[in-house]
Amino acid sequence: MGLYRLVLRVGDMAALARPGQFVNVLTGAGWDPLLRRPMSIAGIDGRELQLLYKVVGNGTAAMSRWQSGDEIDLLGPLGNGWDAAADGFPVLLGGGAGIAPVYYLHKELLRSSTAHHLIMGSRSTEEHFLQHDPHSGISLSTDDGSAGVAGTVLDALHDLMEAALIPRSGLSLYGCGPPGMMRALADFAGQHEMDCQLALEEIMACGIGLCQGCNVAMRLPGNTPEHSYHQRYRLSCIDGPVFKAKELVTWQI
Ligand SMILES: Cc1cc2nc3c(=O)[nH]c(=O)nc-3n(C[C@H](O)[C@H](O)[C@H](O)COP(=O)(O)OP(=O)(O)OC[C@H]3O[C@@H](n4cnc5c(N)ncnc54)[C@H](O)[C@@H]3O)c2cc1C
Repeated sequence: MGLYRLVLRVGDMAALARPGQFVNVLTGAGWDPLLRRPMSIAGIDGRELQLLYKVVGNGTAAMSRWQSGDEIDLLGPLGNGWDAAADGFPVLLGGGAGIAPVYYLHKELLRSSTAHHLIMGSRSTEEHFLQHDPHSGISLSTDDGSAGVAGTVLDALHDLMEAALIPRSGLSLYGCGPPGMMRALADFAGQHEMDCQLALEEIMACGIGLCQGCNVAMRLPGNTPEHSYHQRYRLSCIDGPVFKAKELVTWQI
């Protein structure tokens, strides 16, 4: 299934947004769905905010029926956003609907003329809206081989290193995607001692730290004798959604 693109006129809110942040969207006026749905900001253009989303259930199905001119209730921008000043050559990796926060960062890096490489992965070609062009900094991967590299975003990353289109070391990885991809990225970054930030799409409810529903287990130093709930866990909505991979308990993501 393809990705939907939604452009919202948000006025002054647009000026506050940073790549990696999200908005929490009320998808219906009634009781169902009761909770807002978190959506990463995929880009800002003037006073407009862009979302990219996949229809998976009630909320996103309702969004897909919105018409031009509808008025939408959303909270944001929420969350911390990427640390775009991390050392190393930036490689941005987005999988499936996880492309949104990575795509926004890509556009900001283009705007500031910062060299980087964007790798977008999906099941097949219908989900892609860019062209595979590794020499100009954009690589695609598909599970079925219908566009770009056949395989995962990590296969595409290996190919780029082999072809010397990106450095072999000193990379700074920025990833967002399904849990399997996030774990693979965290493992890869750990093995190669690379800086890696992950934007988690942890299921969440309020989005503002009240409900405590989106807790994320943190890796603690081995010599920590006693630790409280507050040391052991962070909330994805206000402490994240972006975390350093090395700080996460990766089986949990
Ligand atoms: C910070 C953040 C940013 C996100 N950004 C995007 C985005 O840019 N584009 C996008 O398409 N989606 C994004 N998501 C996921 C999106 O919020 C969910 O897909 C959406 O809430 C599903 O709502 P629904 O009513 O359509 O489906 P529901 O009926 O609520 O759920 C349908 C199915 O999707 C699963 N699901 C629900 N929420 C999530 C979730 N957060 N992660 C994984 N599976 C889930 C449910 O377990 C269920 O199997 C983001 C989530 C978070 C936390």
